Amino acid sequence: MKTIADARSWVEHANGHCDFPLQNLPLGIFSRPSHLPRCGVAIGDAILDLEEVLTAGLLDGAAKMAVEATRGGALNAFFALGSVPRVALRERLLALLAEGSEYQAVLQPMLYPAGECLMHLPAKVGDYTDFYVGIQHATNVGKLFRPDNPLLPNYKYVPIGYHGRASTLRPSGTEVVRPNGQTLPAGQTEPSFGPCARLDYELELGMWIGQGNEMGQAIPIAEAGEHVAGLCLLNDWSARDIQAWEYQPLGPFLSKNFITTLSPWVVTAEALAPFRRSQPDRPEGDPQPLPYLLDEQDQACGAFDIELEVLLITACMREAGLPAHRLAISNTLNMYWTVAQLITHHTVNGCQLQPGDLFGSGTLSGATANSFGSLLEITEGGKRPVELASGEMRKFLEDGDEIIMRARCVREGVASIGFGECRGIVVGRP
Ligand code: MN
Repeated sequence: MKTIADARSWVEHANGHCDFPLQNLPLGIFSRPSHLPRCGVAIGDAILDLEEVLTAGLLDGAAKMAVEATRGGALNAFFALGSVPRVALRERLLALLAEGSEYQAVLQPMLYPAGECLMHLPAKVGDYTDFYVGIQHATNVGKLFRPDNPLLPNYKYVPIGYHGRASTLRPSGTEVVRPNGQTLPAGQTEPSFGPCARLDYELELGMWIGQGNEMGQAIPIAEAGEHVAGLCLLNDWSARDIQAWEYQPLGPFLSKNFITTLSPWVVTAEALAPFRRSQPDRPEGDPQPLPYLLDEQDQACGAFDIELEVLLITACMREAGLPAHRLAISNTLNMYWTVAQLITHHTVNGCQLQPGDLFGSGTLSGATANSFGSLLEITEGGKRPVELASGEMRKFLEDGDEIIMRARCVREGVASIGFGECRGIVVGRP
Protein backbone atom coordinates (compact mmCIF):
# COMPACT_ATOMS: atom_id res chain seq x y z
CA MET A 1 0.00 0.00 0.00
CA LYS A 2 1.23 3.49 -0.82
CA THR A 3 1.43 5.62 2.29
CA ILE A 4 2.32 9.22 2.96
CA ALA A 5 5.79 8.01 4.00
CA ASP A 6 6.74 7.24 0.41
CA ALA A 7 4.48 9.69 -1.40
CA ARG A 8 6.24 11.69 -4.13
CA SER A 9 5.49 15.03 -5.68
CA TRP A 10 5.40 16.09 -9.33
CA VAL A 11 7.53 19.00 -8.08
CA GLU A 12 10.72 17.02 -8.77
CA HIS A 13 13.09 18.98 -6.54
CA ALA A 14 10.80 18.30 -3.57
CA ASN A 15 11.50 14.56 -3.66
CA GLY A 16 14.27 13.91 -1.18
CA HIS A 17 14.56 17.64 -0.40
CA CYS A 18 16.34 18.00 2.94
CA ASP A 19 13.76 20.42 4.37
CA PHE A 20 10.61 20.57 2.28
CA PRO A 21 9.48 17.29 0.72
CA LEU A 22 5.78 16.68 0.11
CA GLN A 23 5.42 15.32 3.66
CA ASN A 24 6.29 18.68 5.29
CA LEU A 25 4.18 21.45 3.66
CA PRO A 26 5.04 24.23 6.13
CA LEU A 27 3.16 27.49 5.84
CA GLY A 28 4.67 30.94 5.71
CA ILE A 29 4.19 34.51 4.57
CA PHE A 30 6.23 35.45 1.52
CA SER A 31 6.36 38.21 -1.05
CA ARG A 32 7.57 38.42 -4.60
CA PRO A 33 9.24 41.63 -5.78
CA SER A 34 6.61 44.41 -5.92
CA HIS A 35 3.88 42.14 -4.50
CA LEU A 36 2.17 42.27 -1.13
CA PRO A 37 2.96 39.55 1.42
CA ARG A 38 0.70 36.49 1.21
CA CYS A 39 0.54 32.93 2.39
CA GLY A 40 2.53 30.20 0.69
CA VAL A 41 3.60 26.65 1.29
CA ALA A 42 7.20 25.50 0.86
CA ILE A 43 7.64 22.60 -1.54
CA GLY A 44 11.22 21.73 -2.49
CA ASP A 45 13.02 24.92 -3.53
CA ALA A 46 9.75 26.61 -4.46
CA ILE A 47 6.85 28.36 -2.80
CA LEU A 48 3.30 27.59 -3.88
CA ASP A 49 1.17 30.74 -3.78
CA LEU A 50 -1.96 29.70 -1.87
CA GLU A 51 -3.87 32.84 -2.81
CA GLU A 52 -3.51 31.84 -6.47
CA VAL A 53 -4.59 28.28 -5.67
CA LEU A 54 -7.68 29.73 -3.98
CA THR A 55 -8.44 32.10 -6.86
CA ALA A 56 -8.17 29.22 -9.34
CA GLY A 57 -11.04 27.55 -7.47
CA LEU A 58 -8.99 24.55 -6.37
CA LEU A 59 -10.02 24.74 -2.71
CA ASP A 60 -13.35 24.29 -1.04
CA GLY A 61 -14.86 23.74 2.39
CA ALA A 62 -12.50 23.93 5.35
CA ALA A 63 -9.38 24.16 3.14
CA LYS A 64 -10.85 27.22 1.42
CA MET A 65 -11.73 28.75 4.77
CA ALA A 66 -8.14 28.13 5.94
CA VAL A 67 -6.57 30.08 3.08
CA GLU A 68 -9.17 32.87 3.28
CA ALA A 69 -8.04 33.32 6.89
CA THR A 70 -4.45 34.00 5.76
CA ARG A 71 -5.42 37.15 3.86
CA GLY A 72 -3.77 40.30 5.12
CA GLY A 73 -0.31 38.80 5.22
CA ALA A 74 -0.37 37.15 8.65
CA LEU A 75 -1.44 33.73 9.88
CA ASN A 76 -3.10 34.84 13.14
CA ALA A 77 -6.68 34.32 11.94
CA PHE A 78 -5.67 30.98 10.40
CA PHE A 79 -4.08 29.91 13.69
CA ALA A 80 -7.28 30.92 15.49
CA LEU A 81 -9.26 28.35 13.47
CA GLY A 82 -7.48 25.46 15.16
CA SER A 83 -6.60 22.12 13.63
CA VAL A 84 -9.63 21.16 11.49
CA PRO A 85 -9.11 23.66 8.62
CA ARG A 86 -5.34 23.23 8.91
CA VAL A 87 -5.65 19.47 8.45
CA ALA A 88 -8.15 19.92 5.58
CA LEU A 89 -5.73 22.26 3.79
CA ARG A 90 -2.88 19.80 4.29
CA GLU A 91 -4.93 16.92 2.88
CA ARG A 92 -5.89 18.98 -0.15
CA LEU A 93 -2.31 20.13 -0.78
CA LEU A 94 -1.05 16.55 -0.46
CA ALA A 95 -3.46 15.58 -3.25
CA LEU A 96 -2.77 18.62 -5.45
CA LEU A 97 1.00 18.29 -5.23
CA ALA A 98 1.26 14.49 -5.38
CA GLU A 99 2.71 12.69 -8.37
CA GLY A 100 -0.03 12.08 -10.92
CA SER A 101 -2.17 15.04 -9.80
CA GLU A 102 -4.45 16.19 -12.60
CA TYR A 103 -3.77 19.80 -11.58
CA GLN A 104 -0.03 19.84 -12.27
CA ALA A 105 -0.32 22.08 -15.35
CA VAL A 106 -2.64 24.52 -13.55
CA LEU A 107 -0.43 24.70 -10.46
CA GLN A 108 2.95 24.92 -12.17
CA PRO A 109 2.74 28.70 -12.80
CA MET A 110 1.78 29.26 -9.13
CA LEU A 111 5.19 27.99 -7.97
CA TYR A 112 7.87 30.62 -7.37
CA PRO A 113 11.56 29.95 -6.75
CA ALA A 114 12.08 30.46 -3.00
CA GLY A 115 15.38 32.24 -3.71
CA GLU A 116 13.50 35.04 -5.49
CA CYS A 117 11.01 35.58 -2.66
CA LEU A 118 11.26 37.47 0.60
CA MET A 119 10.09 35.69 3.75
CA HIS A 120 8.29 37.60 6.51
CA LEU A 121 7.32 36.65 10.04
CA PRO A 122 4.37 34.24 9.70
CA ALA A 123 2.18 36.06 12.22
CA LYS A 124 1.82 39.29 14.14
CA VAL A 125 3.12 38.25 17.54
CA GLY A 126 1.10 39.74 20.38
CA ASP A 127 3.19 38.26 23.16
CA TYR A 128 6.44 36.37 23.27
CA THR A 129 7.53 34.24 26.22
CA ASP A 130 10.95 32.68 26.51
CA PHE A 131 11.27 29.60 28.69
CA TYR A 132 14.34 27.94 30.17
CA VAL A 133 13.55 24.25 29.74
CA GLY A 134 16.93 23.04 28.49
CA ILE A 135 18.02 21.50 31.77
CA GLN A 136 21.57 20.92 30.53
CA HIS A 137 21.86 24.60 29.57
CA ALA A 138 20.41 25.69 32.91
CA THR A 139 22.94 23.46 34.67
CA ASN A 140 25.88 24.65 32.55
CA VAL A 141 25.03 28.32 33.02
CA GLY A 142 24.18 27.82 36.70
CA LYS A 143 27.63 26.27 37.23
CA LEU A 144 29.33 29.41 35.91
CA PHE A 145 27.61 31.42 38.64
CA ARG A 146 27.08 28.80 41.38
CA PRO A 147 29.47 25.86 40.95
CA ASP A 148 28.05 23.95 43.94
CA ASN A 149 24.40 24.62 43.34
CA PRO A 150 23.79 25.13 39.61
CA LEU A 151 20.01 24.56 39.56
CA LEU A 152 17.83 26.65 41.84
CA PRO A 153 15.30 24.68 43.92
CA ASN A 154 12.29 25.69 41.78
CA TYR A 155 13.72 24.40 38.48
CA LYS A 156 12.32 20.87 38.59
CA TYR A 157 8.85 22.03 39.70
CA VAL A 158 8.18 25.18 37.66
CA PRO A 159 8.72 25.62 33.92
CA ILE A 160 10.87 28.77 34.29
CA GLY A 161 10.27 31.59 31.82
CA TYR A 162 10.17 35.33 31.34
CA HIS A 163 8.14 37.69 29.19
CA GLY A 164 10.13 38.63 26.10
CA ARG A 165 9.60 41.43 23.64
CA ALA A 166 7.48 40.78 20.54
CA SER A 167 8.48 44.03 18.78
CA THR A 168 12.04 42.90 18.07
CA LEU A 169 11.24 39.49 16.58
CA ARG A 170 12.57 39.28 13.03
CA PRO A 171 12.66 36.69 10.23
CA SER A 172 15.80 34.82 9.26
CA GLY A 173 18.26 36.93 7.32
CA THR A 174 17.79 40.14 9.31
CA GLU A 175 21.09 41.78 10.34
CA VAL A 176 21.95 41.71 14.02
CA VAL A 177 23.21 45.12 15.09
CA ARG A 178 25.55 44.84 18.05
CA PRO A 179 23.66 46.37 20.97
CA ASN A 180 24.91 49.11 23.26
CA GLY A 181 24.38 48.87 26.97
CA GLN A 182 25.64 49.03 30.51
CA THR A 183 28.16 46.51 31.70
CA LEU A 184 30.29 46.09 34.79
CA PRO A 185 33.82 45.38 33.55
CA ALA A 186 35.76 42.80 35.58
CA GLY A 187 37.45 44.34 38.59
CA GLN A 188 35.43 47.58 38.36
CA THR A 189 32.89 48.89 40.83
CA GLU A 190 31.20 51.36 38.42
CA PRO A 191 29.47 50.35 35.16
CA SER A 192 30.60 51.40 31.68
CA PHE A 193 28.46 52.17 28.66
CA GLY A 194 29.26 50.96 25.16
CA PRO A 195 28.87 48.21 22.58
CA CYS A 196 28.32 44.67 23.87
CA ALA A 197 31.64 42.79 24.01
CA ARG A 198 30.19 39.33 24.76
CA LEU A 199 27.60 38.82 22.04
CA ASP A 200 26.15 35.30 21.93
CA TYR A 201 23.37 33.24 20.34
CA GLU A 202 20.95 30.75 21.91
CA LEU A 203 19.69 27.69 20.04
CA GLU A 204 15.98 27.39 20.76
CA LEU A 205 12.78 25.82 19.51
CA GLY A 206 9.99 28.31 18.75
CA MET A 207 6.33 27.38 19.29
CA TRP A 208 3.44 29.11 17.54
CA ILE A 209 0.24 29.24 19.58
CA GLY A 210 -2.89 28.36 17.61
CA GLN A 211 -6.21 28.76 19.36
CA GLY A 212 -5.93 30.78 22.55
CA ASN A 213 -7.95 30.79 25.77
CA GLU A 214 -10.25 33.20 27.57
CA MET A 215 -8.64 35.17 30.36
CA GLY A 216 -9.27 33.28 33.59
CA GLN A 217 -9.63 29.91 31.84
CA ALA A 218 -6.58 27.67 32.19
CA ILE A 219 -5.83 25.24 29.35
CA PRO A 220 -5.85 21.73 30.86
CA ILE A 221 -2.80 19.61 30.16
CA ALA A 222 -4.83 17.02 28.21
CA GLU A 223 -5.95 19.74 25.74
CA ALA A 224 -2.79 21.82 25.60
CA GLY A 225 -1.20 20.06 22.60
CA GLU A 226 -4.18 21.12 20.49
CA HIS A 227 -3.21 24.75 20.99
CA VAL A 228 0.09 24.45 19.11
CA ALA A 229 -0.16 25.58 15.47
CA GLY A 230 3.41 24.64 14.64
CA LEU A 231 7.08 24.99 15.40
CA CYS A 232 10.06 26.97 14.15
CA LEU A 233 13.67 27.71 15.06
CA LEU A 234 14.49 30.64 17.30
CA ASN A 235 17.80 32.38 17.96
CA ASP A 236 17.64 34.33 21.20
CA TRP A 237 20.63 36.62 20.61
CA SER A 238 22.07 37.50 23.99
CA ALA A 239 24.46 40.20 25.24
CA ARG A 240 26.19 38.31 28.05
CA ASP A 241 28.03 41.29 29.55
CA ILE A 242 24.86 43.37 29.66
CA GLN A 243 22.94 40.37 31.02
CA ALA A 244 25.42 39.73 33.83
CA TRP A 245 25.03 43.29 35.13
CA GLU A 246 21.26 43.70 34.70
CA TYR A 247 19.75 40.28 35.46
CA GLN A 248 19.30 40.52 39.22
CA PRO A 249 16.71 40.60 40.67
CA LEU A 250 14.13 40.49 37.85
CA GLY A 251 15.85 38.49 35.10
CA PRO A 252 16.95 39.36 31.57
CA PHE A 253 15.86 42.66 30.07
CA LEU A 254 17.85 44.67 27.49
CA SER A 255 20.40 41.89 27.01
CA LYS A 256 17.75 39.87 25.18
CA ASN A 257 15.43 42.20 23.34
CA PHE A 258 17.58 43.89 20.69
CA ILE A 259 16.62 41.15 18.21
CA THR A 260 15.31 37.58 18.27
CA THR A 261 15.50 35.74 14.93
CA LEU A 262 12.95 33.15 13.73
CA SER A 263 12.97 30.67 10.89
CA PRO A 264 10.02 31.82 8.76
CA TRP A 265 8.23 28.51 8.07
CA VAL A 266 5.59 27.12 10.43
CA VAL A 267 6.17 23.37 10.54
CA THR A 268 2.76 22.03 11.51
CA ALA A 269 1.82 19.56 14.20
CA GLU A 270 0.62 17.22 11.43
CA ALA A 271 3.99 17.19 9.64
CA LEU A 272 5.71 16.58 12.98
CA ALA A 273 3.43 13.71 14.04
CA PRO A 274 5.87 10.93 12.97
CA PHE A 275 8.60 12.55 15.08
CA ARG A 276 6.79 12.62 18.41
CA ARG A 277 8.34 10.68 21.26
CA SER A 278 7.66 9.88 24.87
CA GLN A 279 8.99 12.50 27.22
CA PRO A 280 12.40 11.23 28.37
CA ASP A 281 12.37 9.82 31.90
CA ARG A 282 13.45 12.23 34.57
CA PRO A 283 16.70 11.34 36.28
CA GLU A 284 16.37 9.20 39.39
CA GLY A 285 15.48 11.32 42.40
CA ASP A 286 13.81 14.16 40.42
CA PRO A 287 10.29 15.05 41.53
CA GLN A 288 7.30 14.13 39.36
CA PRO A 289 5.49 17.08 37.78
CA LEU A 290 2.62 18.40 39.91
CA PRO A 291 -0.72 16.83 38.86
CA TYR A 292 -1.86 19.84 36.80
CA LEU A 293 1.20 19.31 34.55
CA LEU A 294 0.96 15.55 34.31
CA ASP A 295 -0.96 13.74 31.59
CA GLU A 296 -0.41 10.15 30.53
CA GLN A 297 -0.90 10.85 26.84
CA ASP A 298 1.39 13.88 26.96
CA GLN A 299 4.11 11.87 28.71
CA ALA A 300 3.66 9.07 26.15
CA CYS A 301 3.98 11.22 23.00
CA GLY A 302 4.37 14.90 23.95
CA ALA A 303 8.08 15.24 23.18
CA PHE A 304 9.67 15.85 19.76
CA ASP A 305 12.75 14.23 18.26
CA ILE A 306 14.14 17.14 16.24
CA GLU A 307 17.86 17.38 15.56
CA LEU A 308 19.18 20.93 15.90
CA GLU A 309 22.37 22.32 14.43
CA VAL A 310 24.32 25.58 14.83
CA LEU A 311 26.90 26.73 12.30
CA LEU A 312 29.25 29.72 12.25
CA ILE A 313 30.81 31.52 9.29
CA THR A 314 33.12 34.46 9.97
CA ALA A 315 33.86 37.22 7.45
CA CYS A 316 37.34 35.68 6.96
CA MET A 317 35.93 32.22 6.32
CA ARG A 318 33.40 33.62 3.86
CA GLU A 319 36.14 35.42 1.95
CA ALA A 320 38.37 32.34 1.90
CA GLY A 321 35.44 30.18 0.74
CA LEU A 322 35.76 27.95 3.82
CA PRO A 323 32.78 25.83 4.85
CA ALA A 324 30.74 26.80 7.91
CA HIS A 325 32.05 25.57 11.25
CA ARG A 326 29.61 23.39 13.14
CA LEU A 327 29.37 24.68 16.69
CA ALA A 328 26.81 22.17 17.94
CA ILE A 329 24.38 19.36 17.20
CA SER A 330 21.60 19.09 19.76
CA ASN A 331 18.05 17.76 19.98
CA THR A 332 14.68 18.89 21.29
CA LEU A 333 14.62 15.78 23.49
CA ASN A 334 16.77 17.90 25.83
CA MET A 335 13.60 19.70 26.94
CA TYR A 336 12.81 19.05 30.60
CA TRP A 337 9.13 19.97 30.00
CA THR A 338 6.86 19.21 27.04
CA VAL A 339 5.32 21.92 24.88
CA ALA A 340 1.93 21.05 26.38
CA GLN A 341 3.27 21.53 29.89
CA LEU A 342 4.52 25.00 28.93
CA ILE A 343 1.09 25.98 27.61
CA THR A 344 -0.74 24.65 30.65
CA HIS A 345 1.66 26.26 33.09
CA HIS A 346 1.47 29.60 31.25
CA THR A 347 -2.32 29.70 31.54
CA VAL A 348 -2.79 28.06 34.95
CA ASN A 349 -3.14 31.45 36.63
CA GLY A 350 -5.72 32.61 34.06
CA CYS A 351 -3.22 34.32 31.72
CA GLN A 352 -4.63 34.66 28.20
CA LEU A 353 -2.80 33.24 25.19
CA GLN A 354 -3.82 34.48 21.77
CA PRO A 355 -3.40 33.05 18.25
CA GLY A 356 0.08 33.95 17.02
CA ASP A 357 1.66 34.23 20.45
CA LEU A 358 5.13 32.78 20.45
CA PHE A 359 7.06 30.67 22.96
CA GLY A 360 10.79 30.02 22.97
CA SER A 361 11.98 26.83 24.64
CA GLY A 362 15.16 28.22 26.15
CA THR A 363 18.58 27.09 24.98
CA LEU A 364 18.55 23.40 24.10
CA SER A 365 21.99 22.11 25.01
CA GLY A 366 22.85 18.45 25.25
CA ALA A 367 25.10 16.81 27.81
CA THR A 368 28.36 16.97 25.84
CA ALA A 369 30.44 19.95 24.65
CA ASN A 370 29.59 19.32 20.97
CA SER A 371 25.91 19.81 21.79
CA PHE A 372 26.02 23.08 23.74
CA GLY A 373 23.58 25.66 22.39
CA SER A 374 25.47 28.87 23.19
CA LEU A 375 29.04 30.20 23.14
CA LEU A 376 28.71 30.97 26.85
CA GLU A 377 28.68 27.22 27.45
CA ILE A 378 31.08 26.17 24.65
CA THR A 379 33.79 28.62 25.77
CA GLU A 380 32.95 28.37 29.50
CA GLY A 381 32.17 32.06 29.70
CA GLY A 382 35.02 33.03 27.36
CA LYS A 383 37.74 30.97 29.05
CA ARG A 384 38.18 28.39 26.25
CA PRO A 385 37.98 30.01 22.82
CA VAL A 386 36.85 28.02 19.78
CA GLU A 387 39.46 27.60 17.04
CA LEU A 388 38.21 27.88 13.46
CA ALA A 389 39.59 26.53 10.18
CA SER A 390 40.59 30.10 9.27
CA GLY A 391 42.95 30.13 12.27
CA GLU A 392 40.66 32.61 14.04
CA MET A 393 39.63 32.18 17.67
CA ARG A 394 36.18 32.98 19.04
CA LYS A 395 35.10 33.55 22.63
CA PHE A 396 32.01 35.47 21.57
CA LEU A 397 30.69 36.80 18.24
CA GLU A 398 32.61 39.39 16.21
CA ASP A 399 31.20 41.72 13.58
CA GLY A 400 30.81 39.86 10.29
CA ASP A 401 30.08 36.53 12.01
CA GLU A 402 27.01 34.72 10.78
CA ILE A 403 25.12 32.15 12.85
CA ILE A 404 23.01 29.61 10.95
CA MET A 405 20.60 27.29 12.74
CA ARG A 406 18.96 24.27 11.14
CA ALA A 407 16.56 21.61 12.34
CA ARG A 408 15.86 18.19 10.91
CA CYS A 409 13.56 15.30 11.78
CA VAL A 410 14.82 11.87 10.81
CA ARG A 411 13.20 8.52 11.43
CA GLU A 412 13.60 5.14 9.80
CA GLY A 413 10.83 4.45 7.29
CA VAL A 414 9.56 8.03 7.18
CA ALA A 415 10.49 10.93 4.88
CA SER A 416 12.85 13.32 6.66
CA ILE A 417 11.71 16.91 7.01
CA GLY A 418 13.51 20.11 8.00
CA PHE A 419 12.66 23.58 9.22
CA GLY A 420 14.60 25.77 6.76
CA GLU A 421 17.24 28.11 8.12
CA CYS A 422 17.39 30.66 10.88
CA ARG A 423 20.28 33.00 9.96
CA GLY A 424 21.68 36.26 11.20
CA ILE A 425 24.88 38.17 10.54
CA VAL A 426 26.35 40.42 13.21
CA VAL A 427 27.16 43.98 12.19
CA GLY A 428 28.74 46.82 14.12
CA ARG A 429 26.90 50.01 14.89
CA PRO A 430 27.07 52.38 11.94
MN1 MN B 1 16.73 32.26 25.71
